[in-house]
Amino acid sequence: MVNFLELKRLNAQYENELKQACARVIESGWYILGNETEKFEQEFADYCGVKHCIGVANGLDALTLTLKAWRELGKINQGDEVIVPGNTYIASVLAVTEADLVPVFVEPDEMTHNICPKAIEAVITEKTKVILPVHLYGQLADMPAIMALASKYNLLVLEDSAQSHGAELHDKKSGAWGDASGFSFYPGKNLGALGDGGAITTNDDELAETLRALRNYGSHIKYQNLYQGLNSRLDEIQSAMLSVKLKYLPSQTQARQELADYYIKNISNPAIVLPEVPEKEAHVWHLFVVRTTHRDALIEHLTKCGVQTQVHYPIAPHKQQAYQEFNHLSLPLTEQLQNEVLSLPMSPYLDEQERRVVVDAMNSFKVNV
Ligand SMILES: *Cc1c(COP(=O)(O)O)cnc(C)c1O
Repeated sequence: MVNFLELKRLNAQYENELKQACARVIESGWYILGNETEKFEQEFADYCGVKHCIGVANGLDALTLTLKAWRELGKINQGDEVIVPGNTYIASVLAVTEADLVPVFVEPDEMTHNICPKAIEAVITEKTKVILPVHLYGQLADMPAIMALASKYNLLVLEDSAQSHGAELHDKKSGAWGDASGFSFYPGKNLGALGDGGAITTNDDELAETLRALRNYGSHIKYQNLYQGLNSRLDEIQSAMLSVKLKYLPSQTQARQELADYYIKNISNPAIVLPEVPEKEAHVWHLFVVRTTHRDALIEHLTKCGVQTQVHYPIAPHKQQAYQEFNHLSLPLTEQLQNEVLSLPMSPYLDEQERRVVVDAMNSFKVNV
Protein backbone atom coordinates (compact mmCIF):
# COMPACT_ATOMS: atom_id res chain seq x y z
CA MET A 1 0.00 0.00 0.00
CA VAL A 2 1.36 3.42 -0.91
CA ASN A 3 -0.13 5.69 1.74
CA PHE A 4 -0.85 9.32 1.00
CA LEU A 5 1.39 10.54 3.83
CA GLU A 6 3.11 8.79 6.74
CA LEU A 7 4.22 11.33 9.30
CA LYS A 8 6.03 8.77 11.43
CA ARG A 9 8.14 7.68 8.47
CA LEU A 10 8.77 11.29 7.50
CA ASN A 11 10.11 12.22 10.94
CA ALA A 12 11.97 8.94 11.44
CA GLN A 13 14.53 10.39 9.00
CA TYR A 14 15.72 12.73 11.79
CA GLU A 15 14.51 10.86 14.83
CA ASN A 16 17.71 11.07 16.86
CA GLU A 17 18.24 14.76 16.26
CA LEU A 18 14.61 15.52 17.12
CA LYS A 19 14.87 13.58 20.36
CA GLN A 20 18.07 15.36 21.32
CA ALA A 21 16.54 18.75 20.59
CA CYS A 22 13.47 17.86 22.59
CA ALA A 23 15.58 16.75 25.55
CA ARG A 24 17.55 20.01 25.38
CA VAL A 25 14.34 22.05 25.71
CA ILE A 26 12.96 19.90 28.51
CA GLU A 27 16.19 20.38 30.45
CA SER A 28 16.29 24.11 29.80
CA GLY A 29 13.14 24.66 31.86
CA TRP A 30 12.11 27.48 29.46
CA TYR A 31 9.16 26.61 27.21
CA ILE A 32 7.66 29.77 25.72
CA LEU A 33 9.40 32.67 23.90
CA GLY A 34 13.02 31.83 24.59
CA ASN A 35 16.27 31.05 22.80
CA GLU A 36 14.92 28.23 20.64
CA THR A 37 12.19 30.37 19.09
CA GLU A 38 14.55 33.31 18.61
CA LYS A 39 17.07 31.00 16.94
CA PHE A 40 14.52 29.41 14.62
CA GLU A 41 13.05 32.82 13.71
CA GLN A 42 16.51 34.04 12.67
CA GLU A 43 17.23 30.85 10.71
CA PHE A 44 13.91 30.93 8.88
CA ALA A 45 14.22 34.66 8.09
CA ASP A 46 17.68 33.94 6.62
CA TYR A 47 16.35 30.97 4.67
CA CYS A 48 13.56 33.07 3.14
CA GLY A 49 15.86 36.04 2.56
CA VAL A 50 13.94 38.54 4.70
CA LYS A 51 14.70 40.69 7.74
CA HIS A 52 12.10 39.37 10.15
CA CYS A 53 10.38 36.14 11.07
CA ILE A 54 7.77 36.13 13.83
CA GLY A 55 6.78 32.70 15.12
CA VAL A 56 3.09 32.18 15.91
CA ALA A 57 0.80 29.32 16.88
CA ASN A 58 -0.32 28.23 13.38
CA GLY A 59 -0.70 29.30 9.77
CA LEU A 60 -4.20 30.68 10.13
CA ASP A 61 -3.04 32.98 12.93
CA ALA A 62 -0.05 34.08 10.83
CA LEU A 63 -2.46 35.43 8.20
CA THR A 64 -5.06 36.76 10.64
CA LEU A 65 -2.51 38.54 12.86
CA THR A 66 -0.89 40.24 9.87
CA LEU A 67 -4.22 41.66 8.71
CA LYS A 68 -4.98 42.74 12.30
CA ALA A 69 -1.55 44.36 12.58
CA TRP A 70 -2.22 46.38 9.42
CA ARG A 71 -5.49 47.49 10.99
CA GLU A 72 -3.69 48.54 14.19
CA LEU A 73 -1.17 50.46 12.07
CA GLY A 74 -4.01 52.26 10.27
CA LYS A 75 -3.09 50.81 6.87
CA ILE A 76 -6.47 49.16 6.41
CA ASN A 77 -9.89 49.53 8.01
CA GLN A 78 -12.84 47.37 8.91
CA GLY A 79 -14.83 46.49 5.78
CA ASP A 80 -11.97 46.98 3.33
CA GLU A 81 -11.72 44.44 0.54
CA VAL A 82 -9.12 41.69 0.31
CA ILE A 83 -8.72 39.85 -2.99
CA VAL A 84 -8.41 36.10 -2.40
CA PRO A 85 -8.31 33.08 -4.70
CA GLY A 86 -11.60 31.21 -4.98
CA ASN A 87 -9.53 28.04 -5.34
CA THR A 88 -7.82 27.74 -1.96
CA TYR A 89 -7.99 26.13 1.45
CA ILE A 90 -10.59 27.90 3.59
CA ALA A 91 -7.99 29.21 6.08
CA SER A 92 -6.94 31.92 3.60
CA VAL A 93 -10.49 33.25 3.68
CA LEU A 94 -11.09 32.72 7.41
CA ALA A 95 -8.18 35.08 8.12
CA VAL A 96 -9.88 37.82 6.11
CA THR A 97 -13.27 37.56 7.79
CA GLU A 98 -11.70 37.12 11.25
CA ALA A 99 -10.02 40.51 10.74
CA ASP A 100 -13.42 42.08 9.82
CA LEU A 101 -12.42 42.52 6.20
CA VAL A 102 -14.35 41.49 3.08
CA PRO A 103 -13.05 38.67 0.84
CA VAL A 104 -13.42 39.19 -2.91
CA PHE A 105 -13.01 35.85 -4.69
CA VAL A 106 -11.09 35.56 -7.92
CA GLU A 107 -10.88 32.68 -10.37
CA PRO A 108 -7.65 30.73 -10.97
CA ASP A 109 -5.45 30.41 -13.98
CA GLU A 110 -6.44 27.14 -15.62
CA MET A 111 -2.88 25.86 -16.05
CA THR A 112 -1.44 26.52 -12.56
CA HIS A 113 -4.71 26.60 -10.53
CA ASN A 114 -3.25 29.71 -8.85
CA ILE A 115 -4.99 33.10 -8.70
CA CYS A 116 -5.14 34.78 -12.11
CA PRO A 117 -3.58 38.30 -12.23
CA LYS A 118 -5.91 39.46 -15.04
CA ALA A 119 -8.91 38.42 -12.98
CA ILE A 120 -7.49 40.31 -9.99
CA GLU A 121 -7.28 43.55 -11.90
CA ALA A 122 -10.91 43.18 -12.99
CA VAL A 123 -12.24 43.28 -9.40
CA ILE A 124 -10.09 46.08 -7.94
CA THR A 125 -12.28 48.87 -6.50
CA GLU A 126 -11.81 51.90 -4.22
CA LYS A 127 -12.28 49.55 -1.27
CA THR A 128 -9.57 47.07 -2.30
CA LYS A 129 -6.62 47.29 0.08
CA VAL A 130 -4.91 43.89 0.03
CA ILE A 131 -4.15 41.08 -2.42
CA LEU A 132 -3.79 37.71 -0.71
CA PRO A 133 -2.25 35.27 -3.22
CA VAL A 134 -1.92 31.63 -2.17
CA HIS A 135 1.00 29.60 -3.54
CA LEU A 136 -1.24 26.60 -3.99
CA TYR A 137 0.18 23.05 -3.99
CA GLY A 138 3.64 24.62 -3.44
CA GLN A 139 3.79 26.60 -6.68
CA LEU A 140 4.41 30.35 -6.50
CA ALA A 141 1.53 32.42 -7.80
CA ASP A 142 2.45 34.84 -10.59
CA MET A 143 4.20 37.20 -8.16
CA PRO A 144 5.87 39.51 -10.71
CA ALA A 145 2.42 40.31 -12.16
CA ILE A 146 0.77 40.54 -8.72
CA MET A 147 3.44 42.87 -7.32
CA ALA A 148 3.12 45.04 -10.43
CA LEU A 149 -0.64 45.34 -9.81
CA ALA A 150 -0.04 46.12 -6.13
CA SER A 151 2.28 48.93 -7.01
CA LYS A 152 -0.01 50.28 -9.76
CA TYR A 153 -3.04 50.40 -7.40
CA ASN A 154 -1.15 50.97 -4.14
CA LEU A 155 -2.24 47.72 -2.49
CA LEU A 156 -0.67 45.60 0.22
CA VAL A 157 0.27 41.99 -0.59
CA LEU A 158 0.00 39.20 1.96
CA GLU A 159 1.35 35.89 0.63
CA ASP A 160 -0.18 32.67 1.91
CA SER A 161 2.97 30.53 1.93
CA ALA A 162 1.50 27.68 3.97
CA GLN A 163 2.24 25.19 1.18
CA SER A 164 5.31 26.73 -0.44
CA HIS A 165 8.33 26.81 1.92
CA GLY A 166 11.36 27.34 -0.31
CA ALA A 167 9.58 27.89 -3.63
CA GLU A 168 11.66 30.33 -5.62
CA LEU A 169 11.42 32.57 -8.66
CA HIS A 170 14.14 34.98 -9.90
CA ASP A 171 16.20 34.15 -6.76
CA LYS A 172 13.37 35.34 -4.50
CA LYS A 173 11.70 32.86 -2.23
CA SER A 174 8.14 32.41 -1.10
CA GLY A 175 7.80 34.76 1.85
CA ALA A 176 10.04 37.45 0.36
CA TRP A 177 7.73 38.72 -2.40
CA GLY A 178 4.88 40.43 -0.61
CA ASP A 179 4.73 43.03 2.18
CA ALA A 180 4.32 40.04 4.48
CA SER A 181 3.80 36.32 4.24
CA GLY A 182 2.08 33.73 6.41
CA PHE A 183 3.59 30.25 6.85
CA SER A 184 2.16 27.12 8.43
CA PHE A 185 4.28 24.43 10.09
CA TYR A 186 1.38 21.98 10.46
CA PRO A 187 2.97 18.48 10.57
CA GLY A 188 2.06 17.59 6.97
CA LYS A 189 3.42 20.80 5.39
CA ASN A 190 6.78 20.84 3.58
CA LEU A 191 8.39 22.22 6.74
CA GLY A 192 6.31 20.62 9.46
CA ALA A 193 6.55 20.76 13.24
CA LEU A 194 5.48 17.91 15.52
CA GLY A 195 2.40 19.87 16.44
CA ASP A 196 0.96 23.22 15.36
CA GLY A 197 3.14 26.13 14.36
CA GLY A 198 3.27 29.11 12.04
CA ALA A 199 5.23 32.26 11.24
CA ILE A 200 5.09 35.59 9.46
CA THR A 201 8.00 36.81 7.35
CA THR A 202 8.44 40.47 6.41
CA ASN A 203 11.02 43.18 5.73
CA ASP A 204 8.84 45.79 7.45
CA ASP A 205 10.29 46.74 10.90
CA GLU A 206 7.11 48.39 12.14
CA LEU A 207 4.90 45.46 11.11
CA ALA A 208 7.29 42.97 12.73
CA GLU A 209 7.27 44.92 15.99
CA THR A 210 3.48 45.12 16.00
CA LEU A 211 3.17 41.38 15.32
CA ARG A 212 5.53 40.54 18.19
CA ALA A 213 3.14 42.36 20.50
CA LEU A 214 -0.07 41.06 18.92
CA ARG A 215 0.95 37.40 19.28
CA ASN A 216 1.64 38.01 22.99
CA TYR A 217 -1.57 39.65 24.36
CA GLY A 218 -0.68 42.91 22.58
CA SER A 219 2.28 43.42 24.87
CA HIS A 220 6.03 44.05 24.45
CA ILE A 221 6.60 44.66 28.15
CA LYS A 222 4.94 42.35 30.64
CA TYR A 223 1.65 43.79 31.95
CA GLN A 224 1.77 46.76 29.58
CA ASN A 225 -0.66 46.17 26.73
CA LEU A 226 -0.62 48.33 23.60
CA TYR A 227 -3.21 46.34 21.66
CA GLN A 228 -6.06 43.92 22.25
CA GLY A 229 -3.83 41.05 21.23
CA LEU A 230 -4.04 37.28 21.18
CA ASN A 231 -2.06 34.45 22.65
CA SER A 232 -0.53 32.92 19.52
CA ARG A 233 3.07 31.89 20.07
CA LEU A 234 5.37 29.30 18.54
CA ASP A 235 6.63 27.34 21.54
CA GLU A 236 10.19 26.32 22.34
CA ILE A 237 9.78 22.61 21.64
CA GLN A 238 8.24 23.20 18.20
CA SER A 239 10.92 25.80 17.41
CA ALA A 240 13.63 23.26 18.29
CA MET A 241 11.95 20.62 16.08
CA LEU A 242 11.73 23.12 13.22
CA SER A 243 15.41 24.11 13.52
CA VAL A 244 16.34 20.47 13.02
CA LYS A 245 14.00 20.02 10.07
CA LEU A 246 14.90 23.32 8.37
CA LYS A 247 18.44 21.99 7.81
CA TYR A 248 16.98 19.21 5.67
CA LEU A 249 14.37 21.29 3.85
CA PRO A 250 16.54 21.87 0.74
CA SER A 251 17.23 18.13 0.28
CA GLN A 252 13.60 17.25 1.05
CA THR A 253 12.44 19.81 -1.50
CA GLN A 254 14.80 18.34 -4.07
CA ALA A 255 13.40 14.86 -3.37
CA ARG A 256 9.86 16.20 -3.96
CA GLN A 257 10.96 17.85 -7.21
CA GLU A 258 12.58 14.61 -8.39
CA LEU A 259 9.46 12.62 -7.58
CA ALA A 260 7.33 15.14 -9.48
CA ASP A 261 9.67 14.90 -12.48
CA TYR A 262 9.40 11.13 -12.32
CA TYR A 263 5.59 11.23 -12.23
CA ILE A 264 5.44 13.73 -15.10
CA LYS A 265 7.87 11.74 -17.26
CA ASN A 266 6.26 8.36 -16.61
CA ILE A 267 2.54 8.91 -16.18
CA SER A 268 0.77 8.91 -19.48
CA ASN A 269 -2.98 8.44 -19.67
CA PRO A 270 -5.35 10.34 -21.95
CA ALA A 271 -7.98 10.41 -19.19
CA ILE A 272 -5.70 12.33 -16.83
CA VAL A 273 -4.30 15.87 -17.01
CA LEU A 274 -0.89 16.24 -15.34
CA PRO A 275 0.28 19.44 -13.65
CA GLU A 276 2.15 21.91 -15.84
CA VAL A 277 5.04 23.84 -14.38
CA PRO A 278 6.18 27.00 -16.15
CA GLU A 279 9.09 27.62 -13.72
CA LYS A 280 10.71 24.57 -12.13
CA GLU A 281 12.24 26.20 -9.03
CA ALA A 282 8.95 27.94 -8.34
CA HIS A 283 7.27 24.64 -7.38
CA VAL A 284 8.13 22.74 -4.20
CA TRP A 285 5.39 20.13 -4.64
CA HIS A 286 3.51 20.19 -1.36
CA LEU A 287 0.90 18.35 -3.42
CA PHE A 288 0.97 16.61 -6.79
CA VAL A 289 -2.45 17.36 -8.20
CA VAL A 290 -3.86 15.80 -11.36
CA ARG A 291 -7.19 16.48 -13.05
CA THR A 292 -9.74 14.08 -14.47
CA THR A 293 -13.42 14.13 -15.29
CA HIS A 294 -13.56 10.51 -14.06
CA ARG A 295 -12.40 11.13 -10.52
CA ASP A 296 -14.54 8.63 -8.65
CA ALA A 297 -13.55 5.83 -11.02
CA LEU A 298 -9.87 6.80 -10.80
CA ILE A 299 -9.95 6.85 -6.99
CA GLU A 300 -11.55 3.41 -7.01
CA HIS A 301 -8.97 2.05 -9.46
CA LEU A 302 -6.03 3.51 -7.51
CA THR A 303 -7.38 2.14 -4.23
CA LYS A 304 -7.59 -1.32 -5.80
CA CYS A 305 -3.96 -0.93 -6.92
CA GLY A 306 -2.93 0.04 -3.37
CA VAL A 307 -2.50 3.79 -3.94
CA GLN A 308 -4.08 6.16 -1.46
CA THR A 309 -5.14 9.61 -2.69
CA GLN A 310 -6.82 12.75 -1.34
CA VAL A 311 -8.84 15.63 -2.78
CA HIS A 312 -7.58 19.19 -2.19
CA TYR A 313 -10.21 20.56 -1.90
CA PRO A 314 -13.65 19.02 -2.48
CA ILE A 315 -15.69 22.13 -1.53
CA ALA A 316 -14.55 25.67 -2.39
CA PRO A 317 -14.71 28.22 0.47
CA HIS A 318 -17.53 30.20 -1.20
CA LYS A 319 -19.65 27.02 -1.32
CA GLN A 320 -19.15 26.13 2.37
CA GLN A 321 -21.99 26.34 4.88
CA ALA A 322 -19.72 28.56 6.98
CA TYR A 323 -19.94 31.17 4.21
CA GLN A 324 -23.61 31.12 3.32
CA GLU A 325 -23.40 34.80 2.40
CA PHE A 326 -21.16 33.81 -0.54
CA ASN A 327 -22.95 30.60 -1.60
CA HIS A 328 -24.76 32.47 -4.41
CA LEU A 329 -21.46 33.42 -6.09
CA SER A 330 -20.55 31.62 -9.28
CA LEU A 331 -16.89 30.77 -9.90
CA PRO A 332 -17.19 28.19 -12.69
CA LEU A 333 -13.51 27.27 -13.05
CA THR A 334 -12.97 27.01 -9.29
CA GLU A 335 -16.05 24.80 -9.01
CA GLN A 336 -14.93 22.63 -11.91
CA LEU A 337 -11.50 22.13 -10.32
CA GLN A 338 -13.07 21.08 -7.01
CA ASN A 339 -14.78 18.28 -8.91
CA GLU A 340 -11.78 17.16 -10.97
CA VAL A 341 -8.63 17.46 -8.82
CA LEU A 342 -6.92 14.50 -7.19
CA SER A 343 -3.70 14.48 -5.14
CA LEU A 344 -1.24 11.58 -5.51
CA PRO A 345 1.21 10.48 -2.80
CA MET A 346 3.99 13.11 -2.76
CA SER A 347 6.41 12.35 0.05
CA PRO A 348 10.16 12.95 -0.12
CA TYR A 349 10.85 9.45 1.26
CA LEU A 350 8.92 7.40 -1.37
CA ASP A 351 11.20 4.63 -2.73
CA GLU A 352 11.63 3.35 -6.27
CA GLN A 353 9.16 0.55 -5.88
CA GLU A 354 6.45 2.79 -4.41
CA ARG A 355 6.91 5.33 -7.19
CA ARG A 356 6.53 2.56 -9.74
CA VAL A 357 3.32 1.32 -8.10
CA VAL A 358 1.80 4.81 -8.39
CA VAL A 359 2.87 5.22 -12.04
CA ASP A 360 1.66 1.75 -13.06
CA ALA A 361 -1.68 2.32 -11.35
CA MET A 362 -2.14 5.66 -13.12
CA ASN A 363 -1.19 4.20 -16.50
CA SER A 364 -3.45 1.17 -16.19
CA PHE A 365 -6.58 3.25 -15.49
CA LYS A 366 -9.19 2.93 -18.23
CA VAL A 367 -12.41 4.86 -18.52
CA ASN A 368 -15.70 2.92 -18.62
CA VAL A 369 -14.24 -0.53 -18.47
C1 LIG B 1 -2.47 24.70 5.98
C2 LIG B 1 -2.90 25.97 5.35
C3 LIG B 1 -3.25 27.11 6.11
C4 LIG B 1 -3.44 27.07 7.58
O1 LIG B 1 -2.35 26.65 8.33
P1 LIG B 1 -2.61 26.00 9.78
O2 LIG B 1 -1.25 25.93 10.37
O3 LIG B 1 -3.23 24.68 9.59
O4 LIG B 1 -3.48 26.95 10.53
C5 LIG B 1 -3.53 28.28 5.43
N1 LIG B 1 -3.51 28.34 4.10
C6 LIG B 1 -3.21 27.27 3.33
C7 LIG B 1 -3.20 27.42 1.85
C8 LIG B 1 -2.91 26.05 3.93
O5 LIG B 1 -2.64 24.99 3.16
